[in-house]
Amino acid sequence: MSLKIVVCVKYVPDATGDRRFAEDLTTDREAVDGLLSELDEYAVEQALRIAEDADDAEVTVVTVGPEDANDALRKALSMGADKAVHVEDDDLHGTDVMGTSLVLAKAIEHTGYDLVICGMASTDGSMGVLPALLAERLGAAQVTLLSEVSLADGRVTGRRDGDAATERLEAALPAVVSVTDQSGEARYPSFKGIMAAKKKPVESLDLEDLGIEAEEVGLAGARTEVTSATERPARTAGEVVTDEGEGGKLLAAFLAERKFI
Ligand SMILES: Cc1cc2nc3c(=O)[nH]c(=O)nc-3n(C[C@H](O)[C@H](O)[C@H](O)COP(=O)(O)OP(=O)(O)OC[C@H]3O[C@@H](n4cnc5c(N)ncnc54)[C@H](O)[C@@H]3O)c2cc1C
Repeated sequence: MSLKIVVCVKYVPDATGDRRFAEDLTTDREAVDGLLSELDEYAVEQALRIAEDADDAEVTVVTVGPEDANDALRKALSMGADKAVHVEDDDLHGTDVMGTSLVLAKAIEHTGYDLVICGMASTDGSMGVLPALLAERLGAAQVTLLSEVSLADGRVTGRRDGDAATERLEAALPAVVSVTDQSGEARYPSFKGIMAAKKKPVESLDLEDLGIEAEEVGLAGARTEVTSATERPARTAGEVVTDEGEGGKLLAAFLAERKFI
């Protein structure tokens, strides 16, 4: 029977753009271009490597996000994933991590899975907690923050590098893992991959398809609330220290004045 691998990929605002909150203090996803979260490219890469080593495997990428999140799915498909699932619904606006994990869990149950692979954190919300919530909702084993991952005989094995120790972890499938940016360089999509991705299936689902009520998600269902947001002050021009023999002293005085030394 085919090994079913599902990769959770998030479409995030480009960090090089001018990111802002909207008036209702949710992330303004319209104002800046988005892209596949870089950290999720590592998750796609590990899924593809595991699939390549398996006799028979299928990689599905899933996202919960606005219409443009399709770009993130296409990138993952062009890297080599087989198919995609896009959950999109106007009622998702303002959904927090609890709601997102609910929607993803339902979408993954709908797709079917043996192994779910996530990134270590998104590059916008960066809570790093979604994989754990997902494992709990799915009733699957949770093996997170892996810098090395492999699969054999129905068990997923990995290495987690901490500050004080390196742990080796193992769990029977079904399992949810998250991988770090140390897990292995993500491949670039080839021209052939980009062309092939255009023909790969993308299934669109909304809340009704997943049996989720609007009140369970969105701002109404959110358990967290952004109460205020203050813009970071604009950068100032800075101060140039010219070295005319006293450069070191001037630099030290500059740092001392600002309590850096
Ligand atoms: C239209 C929309 C509006 C939203 N509005 C808000 C809001 O107003 N306030 C709020 O708190 N949150 C909002 N969210 C949810 C938020 O953007 C995050 O998806 C969610 O809170 C997860 O938190 P994180 O990104 O910090 O996840 P992390 O825990 O940092 O993510 C870890 C991993 O989980 C997976 N993952 C995370 N998010 C997704 C996703 N959406 N799709 C697929 N995989 C994912 C990725 O593999 C990622 O690497 C909204 C989401 C959507 C789609």
